[in-house]
Amino acid sequence: MSRQQLAVQRARKSFQTGKTKPLESRIHQLRNLLRFVTERRRDIAEAVKKDLSKSEHGTELFETLGVEGEIKLAIEKLAEWAAPRPVEKSLLTISDEVFMHPEPLGVVLIIGAWNYPWAVTLQPLVGAIAAGNAAVIKPSEVCCHSAKVMEELLPQYLDKDLYPVVTGGVPETQELLRQRFDHIFYTGSSAVGKLVMEAAARNLTPVTLELGGKSPCYIDKNCDITVACRRITWGKFVNCGQTCIAPDYVLCDPSIQNRVQEEIKNCIKEFYTDDPKTFEDYGRIINKRHFKRIMALMEGSTVVVGGDSDESQCYIAPTVLKNVTGESKVMKEEIFGPLLPIITVSGVDEAIQFINEREKPLVIYVFSNDNKLIKRVIAETSSGALLANDCLVHFTVSSLPFGGVGNSGMGCYHGRYGFDQLSHMRSCLIKQLKMEGVNSMRYPPHTAKKLGWARFFLLKQINLGRLRRMMLLAMFVGVASFVVQRFLR
Ligand code: NAD
Repeated sequence: MSRQQLAVQRARKSFQTGKTKPLESRIHQLRNLLRFVTERRRDIAEAVKKDLSKSEHGTELFETLGVEGEIKLAIEKLAEWAAPRPVEKSLLTISDEVFMHPEPLGVVLIIGAWNYPWAVTLQPLVGAIAAGNAAVIKPSEVCCHSAKVMEELLPQYLDKDLYPVVTGGVPETQELLRQRFDHIFYTGSSAVGKLVMEAAARNLTPVTLELGGKSPCYIDKNCDITVACRRITWGKFVNCGQTCIAPDYVLCDPSIQNRVQEEIKNCIKEFYTDDPKTFEDYGRIINKRHFKRIMALMEGSTVVVGGDSDESQCYIAPTVLKNVTGESKVMKEEIFGPLLPIITVSGVDEAIQFINEREKPLVIYVFSNDNKLIKRVIAETSSGALLANDCLVHFTVSSLPFGGVGNSGMGCYHGRYGFDQLSHMRSCLIKQLKMEGVNSMRYPPHTAKKLGWARFFLLKQINLGRLRRMMLLAMFVGVASFVVQRFLR
């Protein structure tokens, strides 16, 4: 039996004991996960430094802080999330108990990506634990130091059988995908997402696919371009552009192109100094393969800011490209690196058309003072998220679902959405064995009269909330008129 098979078998056996059902046991595991993230902050930061050359503070800000927040929220809200959820009743079910009951799915496979190796692996795990599942955790092999630390240290904090960490590369992931799971939560590229879904289909396993793609950023010529460029520079070049929700390219009017270019140049200098290569908070491209891929994307476009590189260190400077069109090489795939192409469009109409001619993005960014223009982009495009006048920060709002649509993914997580995504919402209806007379209309023989009653009970729309409010009002009026007549006359 393979290592992967053994891990899945252990997780399933352990899940079947029912030990994840009590909320206290889930909270206990979540507390242990929180302890892991806080006690092992140093080990995590060191691993990320070796993998991606990120600074310690950068790692805390972009990797573990979000995980801590998600764990704390789950601990606080778990009782509310896991409670039965009453639903609206019809006339036929008016005296029944009708509710949704969230129940665990079983064993979840979590496959993480390398760009934020801790955040994108542990955040889905928070949802899996909260929802009462077992989970097999497969960190990305590309961040080998992070994967090793996760494999060694996580079992010291979490239940080893319920939450095994399985490391390895593509063959190991493929072996895992041959096993039967109750849900697969995958973060990574759209190309591999298709393979994951294909493998899942063999067992009718549901999937969440957190994918990437090209997220556009439209700058309206009438906005505060200085502030817009500052926020875009931050969103684009953090983690060397290796962020799934980084603005992939800028769309703007030709009249502001030079200004945008200049403002971004100034911000790069302000954030990363004149020499980003030696600056601690500017990282590196993950490996030589991606370095070569990103360098090749520049072909055919004009470099107006940055452009220098050092293959021996996988360093590419923050770079802005001009004279880019929809046909340029850099527009043929997700950049996932520190290149920012500027494409000119004649206004918001052309920007919307440009966006709609392509795959649905993970996020669309719009910078404008005009609320109507922002609402128009919301109404006339589709994407996982839309963010106006800022970059990335929607990721930090736990009350918003995070996920893609179409080519950028399916399903979502964060906060309650992570819990719901990894739960089965079981429909429950509890009837009494009384009032059998009401049911006579459904039993044979089927007559026109019975059908008439069935029509009334099944199709009649009643607003029970309103009915209840009206009854309360009537009672209040009755009591008030009684008081007036009895005591005040
Ligand atoms: P990656 O190379 O680390 O792959 C992700 C996972 O897929 C790994 O665990 C790997 O083992 C597995 N894998 C790779 N090839 C496979 C194959 N042939 N068969 C089975 N499994 C395989 O990461 P990546 O794909 O380079 O990640 C970058 C992509 O992820 C970008 O497109 C980015 O936008 C996206 N991403 C999305 C999110 C999100 O939340 N939506 C977050 C981070 C990254």
